[in-house]
Amino acid sequence: MNIIGISEDTLKEHLIAWGEPAYRARQVFNWIYQQGCRDFPQMTNISKSLRQKLEDTFVIQLPAIKSRTRSRDGSIKYLFEVKGGAQIESIWMPDSDRRKTLCISSQVGCRLACSFCLTGTLGLRDQLQAGDILGQYMAVLDDLGEENAVTNIVMMGMGEPLDNYQPVVDAVRLLISPDALRFPTRKVTLSTSGLVDRLADFGREGLQVNLAVSLNATEDGTRDVIMPINKKYPIDSLIRCLKNYPLKKGRRITIEYVLLQGINDSLEDARRLAKLLSGFPSKINLIPFNPHPGSPYKPPADKQVLEFQNYLAAKYFSVFVRRNRGTDILGACGQLAAESFPQPISG
Ligand code: SAH
Ligand code: SF4
Repeated sequence: MNIIGISEDTLKEHLIAWGEPAYRARQVFNWIYQQGCRDFPQMTNISKSLRQKLEDTFVIQLPAIKSRTRSRDGSIKYLFEVKGGAQIESIWMPDSDRRKTLCISSQVGCRLACSFCLTGTLGLRDQLQAGDILGQYMAVLDDLGEENAVTNIVMMGMGEPLDNYQPVVDAVRLLISPDALRFPTRKVTLSTSGLVDRLADFGREGLQVNLAVSLNATEDGTRDVIMPINKKYPIDSLIRCLKNYPLKKGRRITIEYVLLQGINDSLEDARRLAKLLSGFPSKINLIPFNPHPGSPYKPPADKQVLEFQNYLAAKYFSVFVRRNRGTDILGACGQLAAESFPQPISG
């Protein structure tokens, strides 16, 4: 069993069963998550016999880096192999300011089949374990060899996080736990296509990480087509869920809106969007469609994007156009399929 990804409580249960004090769990966590220890024998403040028991029961396993592909804009796409041989991707995106965002995957493929998303064409190939999810961050940190190499983590890679619920919750908990990775809660964002029931559950976990919701359309006719999950959870049920989501004061829900030329980019859409978002604190990320081979869609012209943005800004929404990163390496939103990597860089 991989010790990376198991909860502190689960580790405690093992320790107690072995007749060890529960506080050793925190020591083991400290070694793994704070001191970067990747080998049980190195845990020198833990007795030899306990180290042996740990070694007999667990492995310390990070996803293996198969390749790194560097974009012209400085982003790096990591291809990982996880246990069982499945491949997933993470994208590391350094910004001009000091922000360095890591986009991680939550599943191998995705079953939700949004029509504009390359990952969606794969179907669900496999679920990831909690250790595979937070292991992407740990492996990238180890690889870049710098403590502040990642300042923000977004779950916007392959997969629908809330369709792999418990492993994702466990991974988020370990990411932000003071006993584990201590990543700042407000610098973690979970992005979901809006699985309403799961979203309500996630709110009740009380984790306080940022929430991003991929709305992508303003009326059910269009959303049914581009995001089939809308047939199960139509727009009004999603908006109702967002209105009830337990947000702390001053926090906002990010609304992601992929702009598809001629499909959802009219000013009429902008008007409907403003109306939908009127009942809760939000900020809007407009994402001009990132093309990928075989897709029928196009991004709107820049002028159209600007008009859409301006309409919403005039209604006092915080609205940003998300700059595409890593498009030359198919590393941008919705371009992840763990299949094409033009020039793997090794080492
Ligand atoms: N499954 C989750 C998270 C992964 S997708 C979700 O859907 O939110 C992350 C974001 O990429 C989503 O907002 C999605 O709408 C967007 N996206 C998917 N394909 C895209 C594409 N081809 N161009 C631009 N954005 C895309
Ligand atoms: Fe899955 Fe998100 Fe892609 Fe839709 S956009 S297919 S939910 S990864």
